[in-house]
Amino acid sequence: MNRVYNFSAGPSMLPESVLRRAAGEMLDYNGCGQSVMEMSHRSKVYQGIIDSAESLLREVMGIPQNYKVLFLQGGASSQFAMIPMNLMTKSGKADFVLTGQWATKAYQEAARYGEAHVVASSKDKTFSYIPELDPASFTKDADYFHICLNNTIYGTRFTELPDTGDVPLVADISSCILSEPIDVSRFALLYAGAQKNMAPAGLTVVIIREDLIGHAMDITPTMFNYQTHADNGSMYNTPPCYNIYMAGLVLEWIRDEIGGLEKMKEINEKKAAMLYSFLDNSKLFSGTVVPKDRSLMNIPFVTGSEELDAKFVKAASDAGFVNLKGHRSVGGMRASIYNAMPVEGVEKLVAFMADFEKENG
Ligand SMILES: *Cc1c(COP(=O)(O)O)cnc(C)c1O
Repeated sequence: MNRVYNFSAGPSMLPESVLRRAAGEMLDYNGCGQSVMEMSHRSKVYQGIIDSAESLLREVMGIPQNYKVLFLQGGASSQFAMIPMNLMTKSGKADFVLTGQWATKAYQEAARYGEAHVVASSKDKTFSYIPELDPASFTKDADYFHICLNNTIYGTRFTELPDTGDVPLVADISSCILSEPIDVSRFALLYAGAQKNMAPAGLTVVIIREDLIGHAMDITPTMFNYQTHADNGSMYNTPPCYNIYMAGLVLEWIRDEIGGLEKMKEINEKKAAMLYSFLDNSKLFSGTVVPKDRSLMNIPFVTGSEELDAKFVKAASDAGFVNLKGHRSVGGMRASIYNAMPVEGVEKLVAFMADFEKENG
């Protein structure tokens, strides 16, 4: 067996020990004679699995009691509609900061259900920075204020949260969930597709303050109403059973092997610093993002020549560093270094880049 270092933006690497454990439990979970993939979601054994995944998430993230954790499907993209249908029901207004494609999609979808305002955008420079926010420009009676905390495609992240006062702050944390501690109480709603940093694709996690549940628009489909899922412990219908199990294993790995989110952050900062410092000192490669807004998770870079970019991506792939091609909207390269990317993977990538520079610089 020869595993590669996978720098994919998502779905992405899972911790090797988690994969091994899942493999070991594949045919017979915990002596019950069946795989988690095969068991009824109404069984006692499965109830134990979903309960444990939720309590691990609460423990690892420090989620306060007055928040519900929902295990849903439909991806982060479904939340772009689900959020306005459930929250945009008082003034019918919401504010958006456009920091990339995902934030823009959240805005465009919300605009179908109410009055969506753009308070700032960094589109003028291909979303390579986080725009300054002026609270005077915020909509005072907005039903929510939406940000994308880490911008997967462009490699930026918010390092400071907007002060929205009483307006509920909502954040897409698909590509940074579990990468470092986060003060959940600053947010009214957090959501994430699991496939970047938590589990295989097919699970969406929503963390929502309880007072925001129960006010959905009349037109809201039953499956799009947070209340449906909150009232039924995320089991109104069949949940993504196996993905929830995998999320539980990943959370145990973070708690028991890594030592929690503070430790996870240290490791992620170390990995990112290695790559950024190489880029800052390289004569061939350069990062594309304003240094103060650089993501810990997604690191885009270029050589300045499309031809050399393509040559690098191919050579890297041949050497076992795969999925380094940048997003089709940006070009160049992007290294996504989520939790499961070992430090050694980044060390080896940097060494490979240095060699490539010597030969092609
Ligand atoms: C990947 C991603 C999405 C889209 O997630 P899906 O689960 O594919 O819908 C949305 N927002 C961010 C920040 C992402 O990284």
